[in-house]
Amino acid sequence: MIKKKKVKKPTIAIIGLTSCEGCQFVMLDQGKKFLELLGRFEVQEFRLIEDEPMLEEKYDLCLIEGNPVTKDNIKLLKAMRERSKLLVVVGNCAALGGVWEIKNYQLRQKTIKYVYKIKMKVANPDIKEVDNFVHVDYVIPGCPITGNEFLEIIYQLLRGRRPRIAQSPVCNECRTNGYECLLQKGEICLGPITLGGCHAVCLKSKQACWGCRGLFEGAQIENLMSYLLDNFTRGEIYRVMEIFGARDSILRQLEKTKKSK
Ligand code: SF4
Ligand code: SF4
Ligand code: SF4
Repeated sequence: MIKKKKVKKPTIAIIGLTSCEGCQFVMLDQGKKFLELLGRFEVQEFRLIEDEPMLEEKYDLCLIEGNPVTKDNIKLLKAMRERSKLLVVVGNCAALGGVWEIKNYQLRQKTIKYVYKIKMKVANPDIKEVDNFVHVDYVIPGCPITGNEFLEIIYQLLRGRRPRIAQSPVCNECRTNGYECLLQKGEICLGPITLGGCHAVCLKSKQACWGCRGLFEGAQIENLMSYLLDNFTRGEIYRVMEIFGARDSILRQLEKTKKSK
């Protein structure tokens, strides 16, 4: 009998930094499909089923969920980068800073006092996206990520392909689904500059888009900003942009566009 040669599976690590773990739960929510995907890998680390990563291996693929807030988070992130061929950030807080980034725009002492009530010394660093610390190979956007998109992207990476998310705004999906335009009704909606792919899920519930998937390539930020500034105060606009950490990337891109003219 000819013995079949065992093919070594690629290794995967799924790491959670500071996060609500919602993106990892989206993965689990895929049920059988997620287990089939995991079956293609040698799973070395998975935050939801173990306490601390062992950091003994080299990894073919490392998924990072969450924000590097604490010193331990930053240390772990850098160690994973060193050990991983491909590092993919998963979700809004890893990619854009997430809801925690609201803190960057508040008075520090006021925030500490509000949270802890009693006077105490607390480390309170600015929130920064993962790509401020390490090179990122790929981003899976959203708060939380979209299950089907996640599976599709990981399968493509597994096949050695470079997946590309179609660069179009949330507005396209919103209009296709026939949802009412909240921007026209007088609400701040970031759909015209935000990367589609979420099926405009917020608009389905009559909730404006707050930009959790980040900007799409070619977004006409200037046009939207000038419309918003004609109709809202800068404070009102920034408050919406801050909810999912999009404010800094939007303003940076706006600045870039202005300089290039
Ligand atoms: S992106 Fe959103 S759902 Fe995912 S871990 Fe961060 S806060 Fe949770
Ligand atoms: S509601 Fe928002 S996402 Fe929908 S079409 Fe209007 S601006 Fe675009
Ligand atoms: S509609 Fe906007 S905020 Fe809502 S999930 Fe899609 S990208 Fe995120």
